[in-house]
Amino acid sequence: MYTESLVNYGKVRSEIRDLFEYGMKRKAEIGAENVYDFSIGNPSVPAPACVDETIKELVNDFDSVALHGYTSAQGDPVVRKTIADYVNERFGAGISADNIYMTCGAAASLTIVLNAILQQGDECIAIKPYFPEYRVFLDRTGAKLVEVDPEDKTLQIDIENMKAAITNKTKAVIINSPNNPSGVVYKKENIEALCQLLNEKEKEYGHPIFIITDEPYRELVYDDIEVPYMINYYDNVFVCYSYSKALSLPGERIGYIIVSPKMADYADAYAAVCGSGRALGYVCAPALWQRVIAKCIDQTADTSIYKKNRDLLYNELTNMGFECVYPDGAFYLFVKALETDSRAFSEKAKKHELLLVPADSFGSPGYVRVSYCVNTKQIEDALPAFKALAEEYR
Ligand code: PLP
Repeated sequence: MYTESLVNYGKVRSEIRDLFEYGMKRKAEIGAENVYDFSIGNPSVPAPACVDETIKELVNDFDSVALHGYTSAQGDPVVRKTIADYVNERFGAGISADNIYMTCGAAASLTIVLNAILQQGDECIAIKPYFPEYRVFLDRTGAKLVEVDPEDKTLQIDIENMKAAITNKTKAVIINSPNNPSGVVYKKENIEALCQLLNEKEKEYGHPIFIITDEPYRELVYDDIEVPYMINYYDNVFVCYSYSKALSLPGERIGYIIVSPKMADYADAYAAVCGSGRALGYVCAPALWQRVIAKCIDQTADTSIYKKNRDLLYNELTNMGFECVYPDGAFYLFVKALETDSRAFSEKAKKHELLLVPADSFGSPGYVRVSYCVNTKQIEDALPAFKALAEEYR
């Protein structure tokens, strides 16, 4: 009677959510301080002061009907111009307000873009490990998700593997850097090699192969690491940006899509995004939040705490003998499980009150994801539990 695949998505929670719910129950049983919950990627630092100040200003200064009314379907033109100016100043991207479509965060941005470009029979590539919701977002388009193994150890994009994976049906490649769940940032040379390959393949097959760059973690990088701005490297790019992590606003649902001005058949590409947003009911992103981000355009939540957590966790766990991928960004540590079955490993970790997400649904069994967007004290308190877990395998 109901759409079976959707009933299933409604019934079966993601492994991350499952573990998070388990954590809530366990905290009620034994006290929050006794559960080391590293399950979910909810920012642990507050939004910058500018956010609350702007909300107060807007509520006081704005006409209430105008403040809470509809904006244009693709977003307020002044907000879009503010974003375009800022992006141009930072990256020299040469965009205008007319390249931008405001959305309810990266999830909406991705869904809109995927539906705008993919049809039954198309293929869309994701590089392992990847955000598990890509599979869900893609499902309704009828396109097939093609997983590509990254380089061993570094988890950079493996160009030979990409070459082997691209076919005449390849319509898009999703790039997520800094990456969830590994924290890896793809280096400039790696991105250049990917773009060269895609340019060659576009010529060979005679149609565009789009890069969809999923960017909720762009601002979360440490030690002056550069995250290449894809529009400057390749023509057929959709940027899916979100303020969820950058401004610590995941519950407010605000972000945007940029359709590169260099895109093939640009006018149709932007129209397809607008049409996709319309068909999915994603028009007029939250008006108040559009205006807040325009006022706080150059602000970021305080990421120094994530860097401190990253250093502490990476150093301590590697000293204990855990094999970890060094994360240059985001707030995740990707740790090799101490047995091949990462779900069994995660279950054993639970016995030590450690909640670690098995990476099977990220396409990389054998690993777990540790979200370090938590209080530093939680990491300090959890270290004996990590040690005891490692001891179990000696
Ligand atoms: N893409 C990745 C890689 C994510 O990690 C997330 C959220 O955690 C999203 C997209 C969705 O972000 P948003 O909350 O902005 O919809």
